[in-house]
Amino acid sequence: MQTHHQIVIIGAGTAGIMVAAQLMRKNSNLDIAIIDPSEKHYYQPAWTLVGAGTYDLQKTIRSTESLIPAGVKWIKDPVTGLQPDDNTVSTQHSGTISYDYLVVAPGLVNDLSLIEGLQEAVDQGVVCSNYIDPEYTWKCLQEFKGGTALFTQPATPIKCGGAPQKIMYLAADYLRKQGLDSRSKIIFATPGAVIFGVKPIAATLTQVLNRYHIDFKPAHTPVKIDAANRIAYFRNNIQGVEGTEAIRFDLLHLAPPQTAPKFVKESILVNEAGWLDVDINSLQHKRYGNIFGIGDVAALPTAKTGAAIRKQAPVVVDNLLKLIKGLAADNKSYEGYSSCPLVTGYGKMVLAEFNYKNEFTPDPKMKMMLIADSSKEHWRLWILKKYILPYLYWNKMMKGEDV
Ligand SMILES: Cc1cc2nc3c(=O)[nH]c(=O)nc-3n(C[C@H](O)[C@H](O)[C@H](O)COP(=O)(O)OP(=O)(O)OC[C@H]3O[C@@H](n4cnc5c(N)ncnc54)[C@H](O)[C@@H]3O)c2cc1C
Repeated sequence: MQTHHQIVIIGAGTAGIMVAAQLMRKNSNLDIAIIDPSEKHYYQPAWTLVGAGTYDLQKTIRSTESLIPAGVKWIKDPVTGLQPDDNTVSTQHSGTISYDYLVVAPGLVNDLSLIEGLQEAVDQGVVCSNYIDPEYTWKCLQEFKGGTALFTQPATPIKCGGAPQKIMYLAADYLRKQGLDSRSKIIFATPGAVIFGVKPIAATLTQVLNRYHIDFKPAHTPVKIDAANRIAYFRNNIQGVEGTEAIRFDLLHLAPPQTAPKFVKESILVNEAGWLDVDINSLQHKRYGNIFGIGDVAALPTAKTGAAIRKQAPVVVDNLLKLIKGLAADNKSYEGYSSCPLVTGYGKMVLAEFNYKNEFTPDPKMKMMLIADSSKEHWRLWILKKYILPYLYWNKMMKGEDV
């Protein structure tokens, strides 16, 4: 069986739906198919709040069916292979599907095997992670009665690089509210050299670390978890000297290592690091002009977030429509915009917005929200995170509207 569609989109997540919805708004005669096996679509940015007991997980889930734009065909199947020389993709049950243009947007996957003992530790409930089960994080936090609370992240790229810190600040605030702060030691061990790559944000976060008395350990990469003894092992580099460090914990929140999905990694479309090899400004594949990559799967030197996709999607859509008209895909206007809503406590947030150069690039709309400086903590930013952004996501972005 072989079917053909003018545009095939792999993935009905944030990126796939946004691209499909924007394309249909521009031209409802396009023949578009989205391939995705998942019946559910997740608004993952709110998982940070779920992990801190201040958001209902069910509100982050909608059926994929409800989001597929009218006129777009949904093929409910996993893609198993990519054959860019034949302009086809293989699926598990629906055979081969050919295309004129392909948008690759299957997100990324957690790969627990990259840290020794991590899978067992997760299976035994010794580790919690907002990336795996945010409701379990909240359970662990409520059951924690003092001791060492360890927060860490891997050396691979991860979704929303700030998320491992956000849950730590919320946990610190929670422990303070419970009167457990004097009996607790909070450690943030991370492979990075600094708390955040954007200077004004780093300045605020340093104050936040001090406020909660968090022991910040840069250049620490988690390499092994000993679940039975509740010890995490790190490879570290202190003042140029390589070493290892074992940290015993009572609570461990860990962002797992993350990679492109297997069918992407095994294809000829990836770079050496295994991510989709696209032009960083046009999102067009570097070797196959009729293929675009967007979202978490793409090899872009910026933070992997839904906010980044909001700025990537119009570029992909514009370039696709240009190609369809026989013009060059010359829209190279994506400058690496991404943003990270760094929740720093219940009711407080800092909004890191930046580009490929790690320059702080706040949206002028912040002024309309009466926020003079979004690099500083503000309660209005918390309102943005908890109420306004989810509303905009479901009602505007998923419908292809400009926000
Ligand atoms: C804890 C956490 C906190 C976050 N916080 C924020 C935040 O505050 N702000 C922010 O902007 N972003 C945040 N993010 C990141 C954001 O959710 C992602 O960057 C975004 O969802 C990526 O969109 P995507 O379309 O690339 O992937 P996804 O939305 O993950 O969608 C991928 C889709 O591809 C499908 N798929 C996978 N494999 C196949 C296959 N073989 N065949 C077909 N389909 C396939 C999946 O079923 C899925 O529907 C956070 C993420 C997490 C986990």
